[in-house]
Amino acid sequence: MNSLDAFAAAKLADLETRGLRRNLRANFREDGLWIHVEGRKLLSFSCNDYLNLTHHPAVKAAAAEALETYGLGSGASRLVTGNHPLFEKLEARLAAFKGAEAACVFGAGYLANTGIVPTLAGTGDLILIDELAHACLFAGTQLSPATIHIFRHNDVAHAESLLKSERHKYRHALLLTDGVFSMDGDLAPLPDLAALCALHDCWLMSDDAHGLGVLGLGARGRGRGSRHAFDPPPIIPLQMGTLSKAIGGYGGYLCASQPVVDLMKTRARTFVYSTGMPPALAAGALAALEVIENEPGLSERPLANARLFTAKLGLPPAQSPIVPIILGAVERVMKAASGLADQGFLVMPIRPPTVAEGTARLRFAFTANHPREEIERLAEAVGPLMKDGAINATSP
Ligand SMILES: *Cc1c(COP(=O)(O)O)cnc(C)c1O
Repeated sequence: MNSLDAFAAAKLADLETRGLRRNLRANFREDGLWIHVEGRKLLSFSCNDYLNLTHHPAVKAAAAEALETYGLGSGASRLVTGNHPLFEKLEARLAAFKGAEAACVFGAGYLANTGIVPTLAGTGDLILIDELAHACLFAGTQLSPATIHIFRHNDVAHAESLLKSERHKYRHALLLTDGVFSMDGDLAPLPDLAALCALHDCWLMSDDAHGLGVLGLGARGRGRGSRHAFDPPPIIPLQMGTLSKAIGGYGGYLCASQPVVDLMKTRARTFVYSTGMPPALAAGALAALEVIENEPGLSERPLANARLFTAKLGLPPAQSPIVPIILGAVERVMKAASGLADQGFLVMPIRPPTVAEGTARLRFAFTANHPREEIERLAEAVGPLMKDGAINATSP
């Protein structure tokens, strides 16, 4: 075997022995709820399609029409010839929805974070990041020469002590957090972080991939994201998110002030040097935002369904549509997931390195259209799995 293949094979063998090798399984969804996996049809509790908009007739029709008219790809970077007029329309709509001056759409959420962070923080700057922030926020910090400090999960006092001791040594400071944490389902203490950042001239950026479309209090906050889960909504100058979850399509965005957005469009490398998103995806996202704004009640259903589940199991009420049940050992979580599949439920086991060693978990994602009886049946199936000890939060 040559050294390259020997390297790959040895690496895989090591992962295999630790139960960490990942295997792709072919699967497809037919209605935003049910999923076909290797000959079985399962009810999915693992899709981030919180509003089931991937298959919404209006969303599909808008994307299909744009596809027919404008073709599949956008053909070049947006700064060259890939800047379809639909992108400006989508950006205006996103900015209005998120309550920002302007927006910048990227090819994906991952591309957004890896472009935004190094554009804002460079040599002589400071980045603070929550230890449980999404992998692509960490990837963004790794692309920046700034000094990085990781603060304990949702620990505002820790972030404060870091700012007090470090802030004065640097030109600019940027604080990065998820709005909703993707593997834990808890919310960041955004009002406290916003107050802290204001005090220390630190720029607050939230990644609201799991908040858009599903969080927000009252008619004015409806579906606008985790910032609107608080009253009054805190000021967050950098609101990042994705079009790939509740919006049901693909793409990423940043909502911010006009100068910040203009800077991204001039300097963010993942914007400048990556092909613009397909126009049909912009059309689909516009239609999805239309559905969210015009169907009152829709954006509240995923959280209500998650709370039905947590209530049935006697757990604290879910804060978001994501509910973790931490079982600890990898083998235990694999066995639990396979047992649930035998009962007709797709619940993906989440293992290290996606989550910390010893915190392997079942991660449930609730969507608007999950039938009540199925959620109750799921809770009955999950109860016995928790008998030998389980927790549903990583932080005290
Ligand atoms: C999914 C996710 C992303 C990445 O978004 P994509 O559009 O899928 O690339 C970024 N941040 C968080 C918190 C996510 O959950």
